[in-house]
Amino acid sequence: EEDSASADKPRILLMGLRRSGKSSIQKVVFHKMSPNETLFLESTNKIYKDDISGSSFINFQIWDFPGQVDFFDPTFDSEMIFKGAGALIFVIDAQDDYMEALVRLHLTVCRAHKVNPDINFEVFIHKVDGLSDDHKIEAQRDIHQRANDDLADAGLERVHLSFYLTSIYDHSIFEAFSKVVQKLIPQLPTLENLLNIFISHSGIEKAFLFDVLSKIYVATDSSPVDMQSYELCCDMIDVVIDVSSIYGLVEDGAGGCAYDKESVAIIKLNNSTVLYLKEVTRFLALVCILREESFERKGLIEYNFHCFRKAIHEVFEVGGSTDGRGGAGRSA
Ligand code: GDP
Repeated sequence: EEDSASADKPRILLMGLRRSGKSSIQKVVFHKMSPNETLFLESTNKIYKDDISGSSFINFQIWDFPGQVDFFDPTFDSEMIFKGAGALIFVIDAQDDYMEALVRLHLTVCRAHKVNPDINFEVFIHKVDGLSDDHKIEAQRDIHQRANDDLADAGLERVHLSFYLTSIYDHSIFEAFSKVVQKLIPQLPTLENLLNIFISHSGIEKAFLFDVLSKIYVATDSSPVDMQSYELCCDMIDVVIDVSSIYGLVEDGAGGCAYDKESVAIIKLNNSTVLYLKEVTRFLALVCILREESFERKGLIEYNFHCFRKAIHEVFEVGGSTDGRGGAGRSA
């Protein structure tokens, strides 16, 4: 049974066959496990609710299902499971024969859509680190085609599936998760607008609003995202959190938090680029990339940042839900 506090949280379900990589994804993205350690994970054999909302902006749960969920088992309560879910991520092991996975995907989508037509279907074509570029494209094309053909045969051609190529050995899993999460944030257009305004007035090239715990970016400005910039910003967060937790001052009662109101970092790179990180909320940080010349007007950037931070706080405080996170957009 569920407590009332978690009942209205946007939920992400993580499903897929046994050994497809579900637990690994969850451990790497939300619990800082290094990819190599996942080799020793025990396979999932029960529904696992991982409630991270106490330490992350992202207010959801991951339900890690065993591969062999039987929809026709009377004890499987699909109403309860799919009803409150915002997104269903289905993980397919691309290094394995995926025909069985496609059958499960189809069954899962049909069942979930019937219970909850608003659910977003997100297919992670996973473990692509073992595949050549050609092979990756071909796997994606083939899986896309077969999954959509199956839906069309069932009269469900209007159900939309999104596909992502992912691996826990690079940043693709974080990038994919970012896109999945962004679709569940009702305030996203406002956040993007605020980022656009902030960077255009500050001479900044690229800015990401990060969930610090998971390194998922909740929003970015509307210039295109290149993986290298995203990776650079992820590394910046790791450096700041690692150094702070090893050498940082631990205040009494602060619980040894490596990230707080004072968190700020500036790293000058050898190609006359500057990385700039600053606290926005308890869970969110802004990480920007800018030219060294632009950084000379640091006072202007700081002033603009101050306005940006204030606006973000306003965005998440309106709406009447307890803490303005998740679901806030639904209350008038
Ligand atoms: P689950 O049963 O779906 O929870 O699967 P696990 O998380 O236990 O993963 C099964 C195996 O796949 C483990 O040995 C992981 O190390 C491996 N694995 C998970 N993700 C990846 C990936 O992105 N690439 C590769 N090469 N292996 C992965």
